[in-house]
Amino acid sequence: MKPPFKKAARVIEKIEQAGFEAYFVGGSVRDLLLGKEINDVDIATSATPEEVKRIFPHTVDVGIEHGTVLVLEGGESYEITTFRTEGEYVDFRRPKEVSFVRSLTEDLKRRDFTINAIAMTKEGEFVDPFGGKEDLEKGILRTVGKPEERFSEDALRMLRAARFVSQLGFAVEENTYRALKESAPLLKHIAVERKLAEFTKIMTGDHVKKACEVLVSRDLYRYLPNMEAFPGQLLKAAEILRPGALDETEVWALLFLVIRKENCPRFLKEWRLPTKKIKEIYRIYDAFHDRLSKEWDLYGVYTYGLETSLSAEKIHSLWNGEELDKQLARVRELYEKLPIKSRKELQVNGNDLLLWKNKGGGKWVEEDLRRIEKAVISGEVENDKRSIKEWLMP
Ligand code: ATP
Ligand code: MG
Repeated sequence: MKPPFKKAARVIEKIEQAGFEAYFVGGSVRDLLLGKEINDVDIATSATPEEVKRIFPHTVDVGIEHGTVLVLEGGESYEITTFRTEGEYVDFRRPKEVSFVRSLTEDLKRRDFTINAIAMTKEGEFVDPFGGKEDLEKGILRTVGKPEERFSEDALRMLRAARFVSQLGFAVEENTYRALKESAPLLKHIAVERKLAEFTKIMTGDHVKKACEVLVSRDLYRYLPNMEAFPGQLLKAAEILRPGALDETEVWALLFLVIRKENCPRFLKEWRLPTKKIKEIYRIYDAFHDRLSKEWDLYGVYTYGLETSLSAEKIHSLWNGEELDKQLARVRELYEKLPIKSRKELQVNGNDLLLWKNKGGGKWVEEDLRRIEKAVISGEVENDKRSIKEWLMP
């Protein structure tokens, strides 16, 4: 058994010794069967949260109302969730109540897709009542039970479908595929934050093109913030993207390029991205724009800094179908050559200028500093006080 499971098997053993059932479930079992890297293992149990807390000395209540307790064991932490069913759903997004049950099958039944509804014992045996393993082998994404019912219980599942398409490259099973289009309008009821989390995963998955085709052909994009007018642009961005090439922030910058900047303020506001992230996105966007009209030079990489310059160059290379590594190496090389990396490293500051010129402060200080920076970076003048003074006031 693989390392994260091996360690976690001790936790399951303890629960079993206390007289309850416990299994590995969800994403970790799916990823194990796919031979993918496993992040965190989730455990489901017949023990109630109170019973779990009695078994382990160190626990944290992370979501007790949903039946989840965080257990700290052997230097690791594990989310342990009590088997549950979800009562009647209200508002297409949340169950009215969750009830704890003692049956594993009942718990697996409430899960979204067959590939996510496989349990594994600590000995590595699978419990797979909905044919999840077969779907994994065939590369098929299928809801557990009737898709239209499952999507109307929680409409977010439709975006999760696109997300798994993007991450796994799977095909959506016929009925599930049909139901996506029929149920798409229910996405209106889903909070932006939940949509954002799935959209980010969609746009950074290895099969983003396939996933965006699902978003567009199934009308899901219409219920993403401010996306209604841009299906073609979304597909264009997906077409340009390459597996693993861009991170989340860079993907937003790419989206900006395809939807055009004047549309961005509204776009960003409706997606409710954090202000800091928005600033980073604009910066990459601006660097890309500068790059469109000229090759990188020392002053360019100095102005934007290494990270932003690299991000902009990545987008530029994708945009032009150029070889990524070579272009990035060139940006790094230029950055290494810079005599100063930031204004802080300049041997003169505004106070020096005020003294030298014996003038009151004003816009001229910033202008002079910028001229000095440029001269230092181009090698026209050495970065020391005397040389700079001689150069500035001959
Ligand atoms: P990841 O690798 O991104 O964590 P995951 O499959 O573990 O993927 P989670 O969001 O962590 O996804 O959810 C864990 C499990 O809970 C899923 O595998 C699935 O069984 C179930 N699940 C999560 N969200 C839903 C939902 N909206 N409806 C039904 N089941 C869900
Ligand atoms: Mg998970």
